[in-house]
Amino acid sequence: MAAINAVTDLTVEGDIGVVTLNSPPVNALSAQVREGLKAAFEAAIADPAVQAIVLICDGKTFIAGADISEFGKAMTGPSLQDVQNTIENSPKPVIAAIHGTALGGGLEVALVAHYRVAVPSAKAGLPEVNIGLLPGAGGTQRLPRIVGVEKALEMVTSGQHVPAKAALAMGLFDSLVEEGALRDGAIAFARVVLAEDKPLAKVRDLNAKVEAARGKPEIFAEFRAANAKKFRGFLAPENNIKCIEAAVNLPFDEGLKEERRLFVELMSGSQSAAQRYVFFAERQAAKIPDVPDDTPTLPIKKVGVIGAGTMGGGISMNFLNAGIPVTIVEMKQENLDRGVGVIRKNYENTAKKGRLTQDDVEKRMGLLTPSMHLEDLADCDLIIEAVFELMEIKKDVFGKLDTIAKPGAILATNTSYLNVDEIAACTQRPENVIGLHFFSPANVMRLLEIVRGEKTDKSVVATAMKLSKTIGKVGVLVGVCFGFVGNRMLAQRQREAQKLILEGAMPWDVDRVLYDFGLPMGPFAMSDLAGLDIGWDPAKTSSSTVREVLCEMDRRGQKNGRGFYDYDEKRNAKPSADVEKVILDFAEQRQIQRREISDEEILERCLYPMVNEGAKILEEGKAIRASDIDIVWINGYGWPVYRGGPMFWGELVGLDKVLARMKEFQALHGDDFKPSALLERLVAEGKGFKDA
Ligand code: NAD
Repeated sequence: MAAINAVTDLTVEGDIGVVTLNSPPVNALSAQVREGLKAAFEAAIADPAVQAIVLICDGKTFIAGADISEFGKAMTGPSLQDVQNTIENSPKPVIAAIHGTALGGGLEVALVAHYRVAVPSAKAGLPEVNIGLLPGAGGTQRLPRIVGVEKALEMVTSGQHVPAKAALAMGLFDSLVEEGALRDGAIAFARVVLAEDKPLAKVRDLNAKVEAARGKPEIFAEFRAANAKKFRGFLAPENNIKCIEAAVNLPFDEGLKEERRLFVELMSGSQSAAQRYVFFAERQAAKIPDVPDDTPTLPIKKVGVIGAGTMGGGISMNFLNAGIPVTIVEMKQENLDRGVGVIRKNYENTAKKGRLTQDDVEKRMGLLTPSMHLEDLADCDLIIEAVFELMEIKKDVFGKLDTIAKPGAILATNTSYLNVDEIAACTQRPENVIGLHFFSPANVMRLLEIVRGEKTDKSVVATAMKLSKTIGKVGVLVGVCFGFVGNRMLAQRQREAQKLILEGAMPWDVDRVLYDFGLPMGPFAMSDLAGLDIGWDPAKTSSSTVREVLCEMDRRGQKNGRGFYDYDEKRNAKPSADVEKVILDFAEQRQIQRREISDEEILERCLYPMVNEGAKILEEGKAIRASDIDIVWINGYGWPVYRGGPMFWGELVGLDKVLARMKEFQALHGDDFKPSALLERLVAEGKGFKDA
């Protein structure tokens, strides 16, 4: 065995040269890996004893991708393209032997080999689109030549990791070998190739599949149309599609140039910067400075949920999905029955779509124990309260829980706004109390705000953070304040939206601007969806807000076909002349001089106060870092990931510009726009939020 460099070996076994890469943790394409690969292939090609070359990796995976920590830094050593050229021009057949995941640049290396063999557990994919990029090392030109245009389009725009069996079926892998016997299997495959003695074909020269799609622009038009909703606002999917078009319509080398051009366009734009930021921000959110990774956690083997309403049911499903038994307690039998029924219906619907078997449904339901008695929660390791949002009721529940729950059990509240410390104070064990704020629908939304109380124990925080991963959520640690991070910032936007419709805009203007910005829907469409009558009491109504007036007119939102909008049977929204009149009358009664309001003002009025509120949250220490706030907004409220979250976006706009506009608005509209001290300081010092 000859060591080529610190991470690469070349061994010769009879007539087969085996290049082995060993660069933990994931054999990413660092400068050292590129150097080793190039030198090893040059040596194997030069060795007269070697007839064919196998490329294999040690450790848990094949080359898992580019080293994204190298992004934006000056490159050293050979380029990836140099390495690829060396491999692709090998006069001896090259076989990539794949285990683990061959992703991004890793797959692009495998695509210059003449053959790919893999173990059944391997996966392959080009996930660059997920960080706002495209595979820029020939992946978009070679992939369609192997798997055809349709499959290539799907892979590059979804970034999905294709399992070995599917990869074999589409021709991406040439053969699967026995699990655990990849090296021998690949060598045996190489010998078969040598025995067949066929002329060696480079992937770049396999033109049949791209030629089959030439002169058929409808393939691309249909693909764009079918995915329009999913790709809305994102630049990367479109550039990926254009690359596949180039593969179809241009000679290979020109296609490569087009791929490079489209790659550079994405790489230098703000979307990819935002998406890469979010990628790291999500990992960062898991780190709590004063709760180190080795903080002991408590085993969560059994969970109790109190309240089987909108939230309790969804919360329970998270644990059932993870195989953790749940006891769900109600005070009303009919609500218990309804709640359990909704859970079953959700599972059955998933089964109907083929994403669960009936067996899975029964297994999950089998883990659920409905009960009418809090006492049944005595052996739970974690109890989550999701009853009505009223302090008195929460206090009553926690007081009782304190006498029932076993020592050391974590007592959590799903409150949206209430003071977690006040709730904790009515127990003898405030150190075990924490907020676990799920978002609706709780079985779907990825965000979990983990609310740390004044006395919450570190092990309880560590357990909650770990648990968020177990149930597939992104946990973000926040402090106690009204509405925590997400709803506290949302309130800023909602207030301005309400003011804007009295000053001159219409609900559909505000909604359109925010939708076009990339949010899933505007504030008025959102109110209609949630129901305008949530929290509205007909006995106490006083026509003091537009929303109250609409409720009085029995305009309750989507559920009865009219709210801020009119809805048809398919729930398509149409601006309502009646609502327009309500708004105009309302403004007139209050002697508000309506005026033309520009789209720009709508956006600034709705979003700058959010950035400002985020700054207040940071200066009060209610979030650990600005990027945590961004993760809250991306995963809990559908903030477009390509805009990086409100704090990232605020910096992109320029904190100086945000501050200047806040001051102008403050002069015109009052202290709702009072800039936070942190914002003032950062602008004065020319710094960003990460320096806060
Ligand atoms: P909901 O009205 O749908 O359900 C509450 C359920 O709790 C009802 O079924 C009720 O019978 C039951 N309940 C009330 N008191 C009880 C008691 N003492 N013991 C047992 N069961 C009791 O309410 P929801 O929307 O699920 O909200 C629950 C909590 O979650 C609230 O604190 C709310 O602020 C919070 N939350 C709601 C949302 C949302 O979008 N709905 C989002 C995040 C958090």
